Amino acid sequence: MSTTRAARRPRAGDRTGEEEAVKVRVDQGRCQGHTLCAMVAPGVFELDDVDGHASAVEEDVPATREAAARRAARSCPERAISVGGEAS
Ligand code: SF4
Repeated sequence: MSTTRAARRPRAGDRTGEEEAVKVRVDQGRCQGHTLCAMVAPGVFELDDVDGHASAVEEDVPATREAAARRAARSCPERAISVGGEAS
């Protein structure tokens, strides 16, 4: 005897991948304003109009953008970016 299960549809309150987030931070003491991070991940990093130093647009970056944040961290010559608590 086999049983068949109907596919369960998402319900309000269900967790999705978009709700998960990773912490992204820029060490302002290391950042030299090279802008590479903002070019690699423009939706994740923004640059200060005055000194060009970078900061995360949001400290809690959706998991869907984690890969972009990690690429940006690898591109930073000053190793100023940490993703998920891991320094680049
Ligand atoms: S690439 Fe690194 S040093 Fe350059 S702006 Fe971004 S965080 Fe700062």
